[in-house]
Amino acid sequence: MPTKAKEKSGQLIRGFEPYKESKGEEYMGEPMRAHFTSILNKWKLELMQEVDRTVHHMQDEAANFPDPADRASQEEEFSLELRARDRERKLIKKIDETLQLIEDEDYGWCDSCGVEIGIRRLEARPTATLCIDCKTLAEIKEKQIGS
Ligand SMILES: [Zn+2]
Repeated sequence: MPTKAKEKSGQLIRGFEPYKESKGEEYMGEPMRAHFTSILNKWKLELMQEVDRTVHHMQDEAANFPDPADRASQEEEFSLELRARDRERKLIKKIDETLQLIEDEDYGWCDSCGVEIGIRRLEARPTATLCIDCKTLAEIKEKQIGS
């Protein structure tokens, strides 16, 4: 299903070299901040292109289908794409907030307990604001509230 692949692509970050720390390097010093700024900017660009593509795709396909069944399935596809786009927009906002954090030199520490989130975790999830422990805890709590 092409729509599913499209939904997923927003989550992927491609094409960056994992950061190599030099010995005794300061956590979130200038070079590290530059590294994450570039990852986030690249990611944002990809998302924006994705949003553009969706808009064009929908404009191209907006032709009228005479068959009601075709119309219904087209409408369903559109609503899926709109939802994917909405998610991408939110993600772009989140990326902008994260870029601001880096600028304020507030990036890379856990919002909840203050420890270093860690380069590898941030590379996997550059918008993370919690360390893995706090994140796990938050997810457990969320599940308990949900049930
Ligand atoms: Zn924490």
